[in-house]
Amino acid sequence: MTRAYIGLGANLGPREVTILRAVDLLAAADGVSVVQVSQLRETDPVGVVDQPAFLNGVVAVETTLDARALLDTLLEIERELGRVRAERWGPRTVDLDLLVFGEETIDESGLTVPHPRLAERRFALEPLAELTPDLVVPGLGRVSETLAELD
Ligand code: ATP
Ligand code: CA
Ligand code: CA
Repeated sequence: MTRAYIGLGANLGPREVTILRAVDLLAAADGVSVVQVSQLRETDPVGVVDQPAFLNGVVAVETTLDARALLDTLLEIERELGRVRAERWGPRTVDLDLLVFGEETIDESGLTVPHPRLAERRFALEPLAELTPDLVVPGLGRVSETLAELD
């Protein structure tokens, strides 16, 4: 069993409904159980700023899958909920990012864990710290400290 943390984001359509459906689909997926869901918070877009505000959160899961299979499950749920990939960092009905997968560090084609932009993203660090402030992220250290360094 591995404890993993998944970032949730949406900025098109009924954002909260879509995110909660994503969590339900995750809970229903083989080899995955949902442990905790953070509060969802509204955040301003970063990077491509000319788009609607996001709703963001984090879900903690326990899984028997390996990281690649978990990522595949996330991408399948995005497709099922109608995500269309267009502009990079553009608007999306739902985005599921694998933020942390146990103590693993992975750098493969199509899969980097911990998520490479986690350290600079308040919208991911805040809900992660809400769930587990003492979580030590491989290569980054304690979530609460990484968040404090952003201030
Ligand atoms: P960002 O990665 O900066 O958050 P994004 O979420 O908009 O951007 P996507 O278009 O959703 O990017 O994903 C592009 C690809 O990133 C996916 O097809 C996936 O293979 C790859 N990827 C690599 N590492 C991860 C990860 N840890 N979590 C999710 N996707 C990842
Ligand atoms: Ca993302
Ligand atoms: Ca993504």
